Amino acid sequence: MPEFCDVAVAVPLDAAFTYSIPEGMHPVVGGRVLVPFRQQRMSGIVVELHNRKPPVQAKNLYSVVDFEPALNDQLLRLGRWIADYYLAPLGEVFRTMLPLGAEFKRSISYRITETGHTALHAASTAGYTRSRRSSDEQLAEIRVLDYLAQRDDAFESSLRSSLKVPKAVLAGMVRKKWIAREDVSGQRDASRTVKIAVLKSAEGKLNANQQTIVNTLAASGGKVATEFLNELDVPRSTLGTLVKRSLVEIVEEPAEFKVSGARARRSPLEFELNSAQKAALAHIQESVASRKFSGALMHGVTGSGKTAVYLTAMRSVLDAGRSAILLVPEIGLTPAVAADLHQVFGDEVAILHSALSNEERAEQWHRIKRGEARVVVGTRSAVFAPVADLALMIVDEEQDSSYKQEETPRYHARDVAVMRAKMANAVVVLGSATPSLESYYNAKKNKYKLLELRDRVERRPLPEVEIIDMRQEFQETGHEQVISRKLAQEIKERLDRNEQVMVLLNRRGYSPVVLCRSCGKSLECRNCAIAMTHHKGSRRMVCHYCGYMAAVPEACPECGSEYVYFLGTGSEKLEELLHGMFPQARIGRLDRDTVRGREDFERALNALDQGELDLLVGTQMIAKGHDIHGVTLVGVVGADMALGLPDFRAAERTFQLLTQVAGRAGRGPVQGKVILQTYFPDHYAVQYAAQHDFLGFYEKELRFRSWMHYPPYSTLANVLVRSDKLDEAMRWSGTLGKWFEKTRHEGVRVLGPAAAPIVRLKRDYRYHFVLKSASREKLNTLLRAMLSYATTQKIPRTQIIVDVDAVWLM
Ligand SMILES: [Zn+2]
Ligand SMILES: [Zn+2]
Repeated sequence: MPEFCDVAVAVPLDAAFTYSIPEGMHPVVGGRVLVPFRQQRMSGIVVELHNRKPPVQAKNLYSVVDFEPALNDQLLRLGRWIADYYLAPLGEVFRTMLPLGAEFKRSISYRITETGHTALHAASTAGYTRSRRSSDEQLAEIRVLDYLAQRDDAFESSLRSSLKVPKAVLAGMVRKKWIAREDVSGQRDASRTVKIAVLKSAEGKLNANQQTIVNTLAASGGKVATEFLNELDVPRSTLGTLVKRSLVEIVEEPAEFKVSGARARRSPLEFELNSAQKAALAHIQESVASRKFSGALMHGVTGSGKTAVYLTAMRSVLDAGRSAILLVPEIGLTPAVAADLHQVFGDEVAILHSALSNEERAEQWHRIKRGEARVVVGTRSAVFAPVADLALMIVDEEQDSSYKQEETPRYHARDVAVMRAKMANAVVVLGSATPSLESYYNAKKNKYKLLELRDRVERRPLPEVEIIDMRQEFQETGHEQVISRKLAQEIKERLDRNEQVMVLLNRRGYSPVVLCRSCGKSLECRNCAIAMTHHKGSRRMVCHYCGYMAAVPEACPECGSEYVYFLGTGSEKLEELLHGMFPQARIGRLDRDTVRGREDFERALNALDQGELDLLVGTQMIAKGHDIHGVTLVGVVGADMALGLPDFRAAERTFQLLTQVAGRAGRGPVQGKVILQTYFPDHYAVQYAAQHDFLGFYEKELRFRSWMHYPPYSTLANVLVRSDKLDEAMRWSGTLGKWFEKTRHEGVRVLGPAAAPIVRLKRDYRYHFVLKSASREKLNTLLRAMLSYATTQKIPRTQIIVDVDAVWLM
């Protein structure tokens, strides 16, 4: 066994740390170990075993957690690539890749010190324990010392429960240095288990209750979780009686996450594919069979049946004994989708969504690692699922911004998916109705094969889009309208015909701005340079960036004037307006205020699908890829606000949102229509979306990107310097700005420092630099040099955010 191992610990430092391996311990590369790190015990991943003696004395490992690698060679390589590409600390990358935090617990432990031993000795010779003069506190202290003297250490929880010592006493003893406190991370003893009732025999006389249980077991293949039996309408004792009679046995099995109680059987796929779908499928299957890396961009209009192609391709991968991963945007994984997936893949699918608890996430990880689930469907982090023999990686709605992680490591799951497929000699398929500029550009440059699905299934026509110029509406009616006359009339017609309507307003709350007419101040968040939004239902002012809430002001907090005005319209107010206009209509609302979890989301959509709602109002949530056939009209009353933002992706985002929401109309037999209200009727993003012309938009936007040296013509990074002290944020960004100026960095343009568009966010003042370069290598070299310079200037690493390929420059 080598003498030393290098361990990547999840701390914001760009280094692995060397530990010495005690006799008898056998760490493995890619496996987890527990190590001492700055008075704490932390877990980390072994990245190397070696015999090179470090210059300073290495500490010993505490213990080895994994005897086999948790991250195989391929995932270790992928992790190193992410750390390098996104300039992220390797330990933090590995922590993100390995969702096993639930297997550790953090706890506090205490041990007795030399001083403590002396104090204990003094107390027992002085007879304090029996003395009446001793206070309760003294007695408690002696109990603790006595207890700790008999063992190496003890957890705070067991000290407090077995000795009934208050926390304050322990804290006092730490101050007197009688005992020492340690932060300990330890492994949890066992994974969660469930009790399973197993039917052994059904012979002998049974009463009605016993028969019910036996029948239930028999109907479920002889095995059912006892938890489920408890829901039957029989006394709890019945099961016990059956166990006593040896008819049923109770066994414990590792808990497994199940999407539904019923285990779906694998059924043959019954997708009727049209010729374009078949051609796309054939290309994917041939590529998979070649066992070489290749990429494809599947560009299919909304409603063209991309999902059927994905599922059929994945199914054939599974049948060949290999593995596939499908990534979907955050909102896409509803329980109904999960049930469909079970229908197609049976128990061989693992579904990873954001609502899983840490324990469930860890269980799914182990199922995949053991090879029990070879098809994985999930949101962003599913790109790290430990499948063996990966053959196919699919990224649905590849342009979706939820693939970008907005905390360290700031990776983009689509780009990581491409790299992982490359390392695995697998095939990657990116799918979208509105591909990102970068991906479409790559396809045009033949980096990806372009697979086009030009028609909707059953040749249903795309909806007709009518643009309403809201400036003209204002001139003609004499006042600001939320709903134009034309949209009102079209809604009425649909409601009269019992058809359904969706209205998009991409802003939640009641009024987005509260303004004082006397002094002109608007009500800003205490922590952010952002106007607070009035929420009428919950009677609060809310900051949509940090969640800070305040009372609704009756007078201006600045000048005391009573002339406080609530301006603008959010989805909550829009719903109220529509109620007023169409009192007979049943109206639902879908936004982050009405949807707490994915069940709520699904409930609202189901209600619409079942015809229980006539009209659904909502934010961009209503635009995401669901398929409701009764919707024949989509009204867009506010989706172009983003066009006013100082972000080079604003046009692209607006085009994508408009195309997505327009795609919700007319998915059934009746032709759909879209009424698009805008203050920017001439903007190309609006015009091309109205004509369903992706290519036209792409070419126009590409020219703009080329002039401005934005991606895909350059690589870009956003460097944000933040501090809760304004002078510190300014000083640090000034220091870095001077360094950038002084340093020769050919081939990289540095813009800034400038105040970030949102200059204060979550109490931090923010300054930023935007770096652009045609060469990714030069960009990353400069960023790396900047980070080491920042270290020499004592700027904490956590206060500089380096966002490579940033999608959000606010
Ligand atoms: Zn005022
Ligand atoms: Zn805020």
